[in-house]
Amino acid sequence: MKIYKFGGASVKDAESVRNIVNIINNIDDNLVIVVSAMGKTTNALENILSLYLNENNFILELENLKKYHNKISKELFPENHEIFSIINDIFNNLQLKLSQNKESNYDKLYDSVVSFGEILSTKIVSFYLTLSQTKNSWIDIRNIFKTNNCFREGIIDFNLTQKNILKQLKFNNCRTYVTQGFIASTINNETTTLGREGSDYSASLLGYFLNAESVTIWKDVAGVLNADPRMTENTIKIDEMSYKEAIELAYFGAQVIHPKTIKPLENKQIPLYVKSFIEYKKAGTTIKKIEKNLDLTPIYIIKKNQVLISISPRDFSFIVEENLSTIFGVLAEFNIKVNLFQHSAISISFSIDNNIIKTKKLINKLQQNYIVKYNNNLELLSIRHFSEKIIKEMISNKKIYIEQKSRNTARFVLG
Ligand code: ADP
Ligand code: ASP
Ligand code: MG
Repeated sequence: MKIYKFGGASVKDAESVRNIVNIINNIDDNLVIVVSAMGKTTNALENILSLYLNENNFILELENLKKYHNKISKELFPENHEIFSIINDIFNNLQLKLSQNKESNYDKLYDSVVSFGEILSTKIVSFYLTLSQTKNSWIDIRNIFKTNNCFREGIIDFNLTQKNILKQLKFNNCRTYVTQGFIASTINNETTTLGREGSDYSASLLGYFLNAESVTIWKDVAGVLNADPRMTENTIKIDEMSYKEAIELAYFGAQVIHPKTIKPLENKQIPLYVKSFIEYKKAGTTIKKIEKNLDLTPIYIIKKNQVLISISPRDFSFIVEENLSTIFGVLAEFNIKVNLFQHSAISISFSIDNNIIKTKKLINKLQQNYIVKYNNNLELLSIRHFSEKIIKEMISNKKIYIEQKSRNTARFVLG
């Protein structure tokens, strides 16, 4: 059995949805198709929620999003197809939900709103496959993937989810399932999400629970490239990559794979293929167990919008273990991920993604006990398989705030 994941870009218009049929055409195997929201739908839903919460008129944006889904569907389905009333009902439900909302927990409301994107896309894809003679079954993954109550960043309950999978996905009745990425639910059936861009992780989890032969994520790029093609010209495709290399890249911020994707696959030694949905017959990147990485192509990862926070004790005392644990405790309390960390005798510095609300809260809290200094608008550059020549080229004319080198990776916080 195989898992195929189609991200936002691969279902952004009618032509892309038709292309899915071409891609799955030659598969003579059980298949689970995991689909993200179409195009930029999740951003649009975030915007609708923000308009609603600021008491602005969200109806126009809601209508635009509905028009977008209807336009795609008009190009795919005959006029009287049931998909149109399904789309209508989904949008009515969303509007009703917002107009009758009493939920004060923002994260919980967020998940219940943005999840509509994946419900819409999977309904459209599933009905379109049926129309194209591909028998399939639509699954609401929220009945299977169970998480804790950490809304917007749900942590999967592996035991419960494994039991649900075995009960609900039976491949003797149906050989192709279509389901949602990104979304899940609590034990009380409240919708949660796995974090933005989390559909890759959903596909990887399905691979893990179903002991799949492989997981393929279909992208608008040829595979994993040695740099973000939006920032760098003349990128090179990496043909093969070890799980270890892939997890490092994802952790450093290479946006092509969600960081949580690799672990479940590594644990069961399931290969991950990253392939182009445009040139779908071409080999992309294979991520698998490789004992010794022979491909030492330099890889560049840039994480923008970083804040570098430096903390020192007020009384010049050594920053030792107890301070470290207090500071990491505060970071965990605010659910903030540290991208780079460094310490000296009397100071600790770390770089985090700048989330205005969280950063402010963090700084206020740390200022209660420490002297806190910070710099905004920095970038974090990581170079795998670096050389001094490459470093020189990449950081010329930039102010270096922090520099770290290990055997394989050079990292810089730059102004
Ligand atoms: P999806 O449609 O699955 O959500 P994403 O947009 O999340 O796809 O990921 C694909 C995008 O990631 C590409 O369009 C590319 O611009 C970007 N990207 C960033 N870094 C890399 C990299 N190292 N290799 C390939 N793509 C990258
Ligand atoms: N639709 C979600 C997002 O845009 C999940 C995903 O695309 O992976 O973040
Ligand atoms: Mg994505």
